[in-house]
Amino acid sequence: MSEVFDVLIVGAGPAGSFAAERLARGGARVALFDGRPEGAAKACGGGVTAKALKAWPHLLKAVGRTVDELDLYAPSGNRLHLKLDEPFAIYSRIAFDSYLRDRARDAGAQVFFEKISASGVEKTEAGWKLRGSNTNESAGSEPGREWFGKLLVGADGASSAIGKKLAGPLPPSDMEVAFGYRTPLPTNGEAPTVVAFLPGWVGYAWAFPRPDHISFGIATTQEAFEHKALDELLWQFMIDYYRQREDPKARLWEDSKEPRAATIEKELKSTAERYAARIPGLAPTSWDKRRTSGEGWALLGDAAGFADPVTGEGIYYALRSAEIFAEAFLEGRLDDYERRWRADFGGELRRASQMRRRFYGNFWGAPFTERMIKFARGHRGIQRVLGDLVAGEQGYVNLKKKLARSALRPL
Ligand SMILES: Cc1cc2nc3c(=O)[nH]c(=O)nc-3n(C[C@H](O)[C@H](O)[C@H](O)COP(=O)(O)OP(=O)(O)OC[C@H]3O[C@@H](n4cnc5c(N)ncnc54)[C@H](O)[C@@H]3O)c2cc1C
Repeated sequence: MSEVFDVLIVGAGPAGSFAAERLARGGARVALFDGRPEGAAKACGGGVTAKALKAWPHLLKAVGRTVDELDLYAPSGNRLHLKLDEPFAIYSRIAFDSYLRDRARDAGAQVFFEKISASGVEKTEAGWKLRGSNTNESAGSEPGREWFGKLLVGADGASSAIGKKLAGPLPPSDMEVAFGYRTPLPTNGEAPTVVAFLPGWVGYAWAFPRPDHISFGIATTQEAFEHKALDELLWQFMIDYYRQREDPKARLWEDSKEPRAATIEKELKSTAERYAARIPGLAPTSWDKRRTSGEGWALLGDAAGFADPVTGEGIYYALRSAEIFAEAFLEGRLDDYERRWRADFGGELRRASQMRRRFYGNFWGAPFTERMIKFARGHRGIQRVLGDLVAGEQGYVNLKKKLARSALRPL
């Protein structure tokens, strides 16, 4: 059995589903494939910036929660409480991805729960032939089924098999690692949203409360990744987070030996669900070299390498690349996709990549993040710039200038 489409999209994450919806609304015949087992969540903090919510307000219809206050911690454990002028949202990725996939289906895209491996992709004279690699008939797959299309889109995430086949693999130096745990909401007190820069490591830890659990995690570069040490650091962060709900004087990154810490650890160990995944974090030269489209193919979102190398934020870029791609395709200008994303957000991401070392490096003898939070604690202007950075409204291209200008302005 075979079916013919204009566009075959592998991966129904934010990038694939958003592109499928836009293309189907524009009249294209779209097939959207995803091999993730039902009910399995993509490993992700699920934070969606204010910039994304403003660009696509319908995202607020997905079940999540909006956040207008954030605790930022310096590596020393000093805290800055930020009230955000523009809230961001936190979603469970099951809820967010299902919402976007349903919209794609409602717009007319056909969704197939099929894993497409590189060996199931074949170039034909008219375009592409895909073969599913699922063998589980009870899950709805039909072994031997084939799909044909003129255009192949890889939206299959950071370890993209389609990307590897068409544009080559991304080296470890172009990758970040994030891992974490899902844990129950604390029974005592509020559950604040926290971002904490790591003491002595590149990267940060987060606590993102969702309606029914908390997503904790650490994001760092693949080169700096040392599993045991970072896992211990994350456990310390999680235990301190719960201790702070009971004792507001408890400090972050305090290796407490008190009995309550041991009890919290024991309780968490019996409930925490671990997750881990990679995020692209391209080096500056890779931004210049990375190919994201060619004859009859294109890559979107993580598969293309589109995530912020400083923060690991990728959902905005997944959605925006899908939008730019769909516009170019519907205008018959697929050849212009590459130029358009570079002009739109490519410069910002390249700049972020150049800044990563400095952002997590030293400045006047202390970590830059320590200095930044110290200055911001006493300065509304700098707090506002940091708020804009969290909102996704402050880019890296003029960040230094903006911070310096705010610091010179009267309080
Ligand atoms: C731990 C962690 C925390 C993060 N936190 C945040 C955050 O808070 N905010 C933020 O903006 N970004 C965050 N990111 C990054 C964000 O998750 C990604 O940038 C974003 O999901 C990219 O979307 P995408 O659609 O390109 O890829 P994905 O979301 O990875 O979707 C790819 C889809 O392709 C499917 N797929 C893969 N291979 C195949 C195959 N062979 N056949 C069929 N289907 C396939 C997968 O099942 C998946 O559904 C985080 C990443 C990690 C790892």
